[in-house]
Amino acid sequence: MAASRIDGKAFAASLRAQVAEGVATVKQRGLTPGLAVVLVGDDAASHVYVNSKKKACAEAGIASFETLLPANVSQEALLAEITRLNNDAAVHGILVQLPLPHHTDAQAIINAIDPAKDVDGFHVVNAGKLAVGQDGLVPCTPLGCLLLLRDQLGRLAGKHAVIIGRSNIVGKPMAQLLLRESCTVTVCHSKTVDLAAETRRADILVAAIGQPNFVKGDWVKPGATVIDVGINRLSDGKLVGDVDFTPVSEVAGAITPVPGGVGPMTIACLLRNTLQAACASAGVAFPL
Ligand code: NDP
Repeated sequence: MAASRIDGKAFAASLRAQVAEGVATVKQRGLTPGLAVVLVGDDAASHVYVNSKKKACAEAGIASFETLLPANVSQEALLAEITRLNNDAAVHGILVQLPLPHHTDAQAIINAIDPAKDVDGFHVVNAGKLAVGQDGLVPCTPLGCLLLLRDQLGRLAGKHAVIIGRSNIVGKPMAQLLLRESCTVTVCHSKTVDLAAETRRADILVAAIGQPNFVKGDWVKPGATVIDVGINRLSDGKLVGDVDFTPVSEVAGAITPVPGGVGPMTIACLLRNTLQAACASAGVAFPL
């Protein structure tokens, strides 16, 4: 039987509507959540991402601020801009669009962000809080995956989750989040010896690799829930995930498509995190 399609686009639209409602509520109390995006250089894809974030903010009633810096900006100038935004009371969330130019130290820039404004959840303080189970700001993409999984499966405790990928922005925080849900978690990576043997044991399979159509139909346990984080553009311009969608759909119980699965959840969770940061800064209850 074909897997059901997990409609991330619809779920994200409903989350964005909830955030907009929450923003309207806190505005009545004199709080306007604000998100600042720092964009370095003229990478076309980054400009597209930043513009879609600005549009999403406007739709949710969140104020957005943009800093554009040249590709040859110095580390010092970048750090000075982060300090300025840290001190700006109208800014509750700061996002530095990655990747940054090679001559800059991206981790130092991220760690210069006030952890309370780190809506990407990449600061070492927020990564540490997630690891030890304290409340903090959680990276948007894995948070989006978790919300989809909870919606699809309800209670996740006891399920065997296998994650392919161990990056700081997707794989590792995804593992921490699923561990927090009391899943049994296996994290795979490029040195995993028999990847297919690991993935076949998964009730929940999350693919965050960056290789088109990498996960094959016979790697998946019948009935498993498959979350495809990958975004890969083929030479013909087509966008595909890390999962070979058609054959895997014939085996899995549920699967996210690409596009229209995890991608829309990332921006929705960014708006959610911005509202959360604004509420925390003002001592207002988070309405979501
Ligand atoms: P990274 O390149 O940082 O990490 C990729 C991971 O995949 C690494 O841990 C790597 O292992 C592992 N890997 C690579 N090749 C293999 C292999 N042959 N077998 C097993 N593991 C392998 O990527 P990201 O985590 O940043 O992103 C992953 C994908 O998700 C990309 O397609 C990206 O575009 C997409 N993405 C989508 C987002 C969304 O909003 N939907 C947001 C963020 C990312 P090792 O550590 O050993 O090198």
